[in-house]
Amino acid sequence: MLKDSFGRTFPYIRMSITDVCNFKCGYCLPNGYQVDKSDNRKFLHLDEIKRLAKCFSELGVNKIRITGGEPTVRKDFFEIIKILKVDAGIKKVVITTNGYHLNKKAKLLVETGLNGINISIDSLSRETFKNVTGHDRLPEILEGIKNLQELGFENIKINAVLLNGVNSSEKDFNAWSKFIQNNKIDFRYIELMQTGDNLEYFKKYHTSSKIFKNYLSENNWIYQTLGKDAGPSLNYINPEYKGKFGIIAPYSKDFCKTCNRLRITSRGDLRLCLFGNTGISVRHLLQKDDQLNELKDLILKQMQFKKESHYLELGDTGSTKNLSKTGG
Ligand code: SAM
Ligand code: SF4
Repeated sequence: MLKDSFGRTFPYIRMSITDVCNFKCGYCLPNGYQVDKSDNRKFLHLDEIKRLAKCFSELGVNKIRITGGEPTVRKDFFEIIKILKVDAGIKKVVITTNGYHLNKKAKLLVETGLNGINISIDSLSRETFKNVTGHDRLPEILEGIKNLQELGFENIKINAVLLNGVNSSEKDFNAWSKFIQNNKIDFRYIELMQTGDNLEYFKKYHTSSKIFKNYLSENNWIYQTLGKDAGPSLNYINPEYKGKFGIIAPYSKDFCKTCNRLRITSRGDLRLCLFGNTGISVRHLLQKDDQLNELKDLILKQMQFKKESHYLELGDTGSTKNLSKTGG
């Protein structure tokens, strides 16, 4: 089992499979994806992904989240899901996606045995969605969610980045409330995080999730205490609603205490935190099957370097230029 020097265990990996994205979210890639000329390494290929996942599986990892960039832009995306599940034996394979063409992909996603999907939707207003992401694609994403549900797919979460004056009004909160009333979907606001690239945007749009927290308590939502491995979201339930609300507040005091995840970048760097500079490339040990034990040793040794906190509140974004590189 992977364990760090603060006693935290890591049954969960977030694996980025590409930096490429087809959206232009203002807080992430406002000018769209640009080729990083300083790094000409290719994205991990299928065999490397298989070896890595097998290694993690043997180290006690039971859940992998595939992310990016936009993971679904990879042509072998569906094959990657299968490899993680079937070849590497990872119990829960989930994805984070911007929902591009979700209406067309829903069926195949269900057929590959995907265990959960997080879809990023910053607003239920078509106009606001378009302004934030640069794409008028809200209808196809909502249709995709319907398709998934009609196929009996249950584990659907929606994430929105809370942006001051953009999607932070009572009207926005009410719209989501209505959406989840008869819809078994978890909706979570994520507080905007500062990255190396987005300081001006951050200053303009960052707001504390307290406004949403206040809305929840004024509207009879009850804080739900969850188990140790529950992840970073504070969850709220209301008996009159099928769905749940959640808040992901990375600047809150205890956010890192329950950290249970490690990250792999699309080029095979092991990152111990979304932020900070700690991490190394493990790619040289993904080239042959007989390197498995060496790879395990290297990853286990790295665990002692995981820091207690991200130090984001001090403005330390480490080497994270934007979250398309580390998968959010
Ligand atoms: N492209 C996919 C998507 O948007 O869902 C997966 C990658 S994206 C980097 C993962 C998540 O990170 C998304 O929910 C996105 O909204 C969030 N994100 C990106 N930049 C962020 C920032 N600066 N602060 C908070 N969340 C951010
Ligand atoms: Fe692309 Fe996701 Fe970043 Fe938006 S948040 S630009 S969809 S990687």
